[in-house]
Amino acid sequence: MKIAVLRESAADEGRVAATPDTVKRLIGLGAAVSVETGAGTLSRIPDADYAAAGATVAPTAAEAATEADVVLLVRRPEADRLALVKRGALVVATMDPYGHQDAVKAMADAGVTAVAMEFMPRITRAQVMDVLSSQANLAGYQAVVDAAAEYDRAMPMMMTAAGTVPAARVFVMGAGVAGLQAIATARRLGAVVTATDVRPAAKEQVESLGAKFVAVEDEEFKQAETAAGYAKPMSAEYQAKQAALVAEHIKKQDIVITTALIPGRAAPRLVTAAMVASMKPGSVLVDLAVERGGNVEGSVPGEIVTVGDGVRIVGHRNVPGRIAATASQLYAKNLFAFVETLIDKKEKKLAVNWDDELVKATVLTRDGAVVHPAFQS
Ligand code: NAD
Repeated sequence: MKIAVLRESAADEGRVAATPDTVKRLIGLGAAVSVETGAGTLSRIPDADYAAAGATVAPTAAEAATEADVVLLVRRPEADRLALVKRGALVVATMDPYGHQDAVKAMADAGVTAVAMEFMPRITRAQVMDVLSSQANLAGYQAVVDAAAEYDRAMPMMMTAAGTVPAARVFVMGAGVAGLQAIATARRLGAVVTATDVRPAAKEQVESLGAKFVAVEDEEFKQAETAAGYAKPMSAEYQAKQAALVAEHIKKQDIVITTALIPGRAAPRLVTAAMVASMKPGSVLVDLAVERGGNVEGSVPGEIVTVGDGVRIVGHRNVPGRIAATASQLYAKNLFAFVETLIDKKEKKLAVNWDDELVKATVLTRDGAVVHPAFQS
């Protein structure tokens, strides 16, 4: 059983799908592990550390991938990488399949079994494999760090002999995994934090972190959560009421961090250009949903846009990748926990149970076909 870890080909991707620790564990399960040279460089893991953990460091992706039964990646492989993978092999990565049906078909045509880690069901057994949570948590933290770096003022209140510096006012929109970590991080930096969400369950979580909850709490709000715990799209009427409340609130904020997503859909637009224009010079917005269409009007993927009198909208792509060493550590652990379930420990070989709910939920392609129910035309 050979497992390959390839270097990521996207220019802005510093993460890697295995660490020396997970390599050692995979070897302990009977795998031979091959790591492409340089795979860990941007996560501060030198080749020598993989070699010390027992991996073979391969000079090229082709050598690393050849005859591999499992290929571990952070992102879906592009055509050149896919061509290196043998038919029937498992490719485990975040596949970002919505809107990329051609890429999903290409993986089916290549005969690989593509596993989309982001489709892992959010059940107790799979918590340790939940890449969305591990990466969103870090994105929430990093969003506050990025906001603080752009904000030309101090975050905490400071009482000094030369005068009092007021605490920054931070408003977090969307209090899921990323938003809750953003709230906690901003609080640790001493900001006065408020937050909003359309899920009623979020209110208590926001308050437990010491932030104030800001939302129109009508009947629709009380029903606004799916059985899976995700947000539902809200009615136009609710959105208008909430927008009016938010517009008043945003005027008084120094930093706004938006994290609102609805799975499989474009991100909801929460902050209009008029709301941005109402903010004071030097205010900062960080749009974590920028790659999914953006929560903030005027946000641009990969750019910091300055509008009006100096309000900045930060639209970094791949925010977990900006904290790559930690993100890799957690992502690699998520992948290991899943791959471990695919291995027969006695026989020391791959033994995938295709009826396992985790496998069923995540396998996109198999035996030359797109098999995931969400992608049947
Ligand atoms: P997400 O990334 O899909 O969305 C981020 C947040 O944006 C969510 O809280 C969502 O309600 C909010 N949002 C959507 N539209 C909004 C709008 N118009 N205005 C304001 N906020 C809006 O969500 P997530 O972080 O993945 O978390 C979703 C839920 O899943 C949460 O309840 C979370 O606690 C839960 N969860 C459960 C598990 C588990 O059980 N293993 C793991 C992780 C998360």
